Amino acid sequence: MTDPVSLAVCPRCGRPLDGPAAHDACRAALELEPPRFCGDCGRRMKVQVVPTGWTATCVEHGIQTS
Ligand SMILES: [Zn+2]
Ligand SMILES: [Zn+2]
Repeated sequence: MTDPVSLAVCPRCGRPLDGPAAHDACRAALELEPPRFCGDCGRRMKVQVVPTGWTATCVEHGIQTS
C-alpha cells in the first residue's frame, strides 16, 4: 500500500490542521458531535447517529465509531 502525503484535515470543518484556521471550536464541538470529514483523507464521510453514539463511514478508510 502506498500512502501518499497524508493531509491532516480537521474532522469537523475539513480544513487543513496546519492551515491558518483555528480549530479550537472544532475540537470542542467534536466532543459532542460526530466528525464530518475523514481525518486521514479529508473526504466527506457518511455520518449516522445511532443510540450508542455515531458511526462515520469513509469510502476509503471504512467505518469509525464514537
Ligand atoms: Zn476545524
Ligand atoms: Zn478516509
